Amino acid sequence: MERMEGIDPAGLAGRLAEVKEEIARAAARAGRQADDVRLVAVSKTHPAEAVRVLAAAGQRDFGESYVQEALGKQSALFDISGIRWHFLGGLQSNKAKFVAGAFHLVHSVDSPNLAQALHKRATARGAVQDVLVQVNLGGEVQKRGACADDAQCLAEAVLALPGLRLRGLMLMPPWDEDAEAVRPWFRGLRELRDSLSIRLGVSLPELSMGMTNDFVQAVEEGATLVRVGTRIFGRRPG
Ligand SMILES: *Cc1c(COP(=O)(O)O)cnc(C)c1O
Repeated sequence: MERMEGIDPAGLAGRLAEVKEEIARAAARAGRQADDVRLVAVSKTHPAEAVRVLAAAGQRDFGESYVQEALGKQSALFDISGIRWHFLGGLQSNKAKFVAGAFHLVHSVDSPNLAQALHKRATARGAVQDVLVQVNLGGEVQKRGACADDAQCLAEAVLALPGLRLRGLMLMPPWDEDAEAVRPWFRGLRELRDSLSIRLGVSLPELSMGMTNDFVQAVEEGATLVRVGTRIFGRRPG
């Protein structure tokens, strides 16, 4: 039996519906289609049974940050078809072997070494792993991600690896309680994507940006993937 204690199915489904509604309204304000934005429900630290409840409510994309926890949930929920698992967390190259080929999309490629390790393992599995390059636009030392100047180099490294398919960029902006203060970072990621796309001659359709506090602003600025945890699942333990 999976853990059901502390899970409130109606609350989960209700908050999921609210977030989807806010995404649709933000998309409409920006002249976008709601379908152009995918909600990734970030289930890290929350039990598999909460994911099961949301899957029953129609949610398909789920985000995880810790390898062992993610693989455990995948096997606990193997009976549900069509779940797309996203890997969002920091990843050391020696753990790439557990991730390549096991996730729909890896959002957090932040170094040529990691790209190389994912490529090697994906190729060994006969898979092509979809990835995003994580960008650290704020240049914060405590955050992962290529700075804007290095993003082109890293994108080129990824494009050179046939075991990987580069789909776009991911951003963890500097924290600000005021979501409007985060908006310029979202715009910056979109502009960086546009210029990289031209310089590298490839389409980079995905922009992964926006979390619980600021996903509305991210959608208005062009996000195609928003990663929302707390707003749907409640606060993470610890
Ligand atoms: C945990 C996490 C999220 C979700 O954050 P919330 O504020 O709970 O919505 C989004 N993206 C990444 C990369 C995360 O690690």
